[in-house]
Amino acid sequence: MQHQTIGGVDIQYYVVCKRKLWLYKKGIGMEEESDRVMQGKVLHEIAYPRLLQKEILIDGAFKIDALDGEYVREVKISSKMQKADTMQMLYYLYQLSLRGINKKGLISYTKEKRTEEIVLNDDNRQVVVDAIEGAQNILQLPSPPKAKKVPYCKKCAYYEFCYVLEVDEHDA
Ligand code: SF4
Repeated sequence: MQHQTIGGVDIQYYVVCKRKLWLYKKGIGMEEESDRVMQGKVLHEIAYPRLLQKEILIDGAFKIDALDGEYVREVKISSKMQKADTMQMLYYLYQLSLRGINKKGLISYTKEKRTEEIVLNDDNRQVVVDAIEGAQNILQLPSPPKAKKVPYCKKCAYYEFCYVLEVDEHDA
């Protein structure tokens, strides 16, 4: 079976919840998710009003928030999903490195007023490669992985989809 292209958001979902990745890539129930994308765009506009290079599409394959000298920049509301945010940034740095562009990453967390520097090295490069392969394997599954409660669930666009259905099944 042919592998689907994996993007930065896909990698973020792969870290947060593999079921979410599957549902998202199959285009299931995306309304709330679109709202979140809009929020992200507004945040981005506020964060980078003077940066000329914003939302850059690389090779028609993936978008990065902004380029600022030697850095790729991302802005996030809070650091609640720092692991997933870091992986997403590493994914961008990795993809750029494949194209001969070597950058570092900066993730700004607006709520905490904190910025993290992310550097791609041999170890985390392998972690990214493994995550891309892992995400592709998830998407080969004929049905989504089972719902597994994580702290993020309550904010997830699929919360009702995952847990209301689960209750119904138990009631049946
Ligand atoms: S509600 Fe929880 S289990 Fe369901 S897709 Fe979202 S994060 Fe995953």
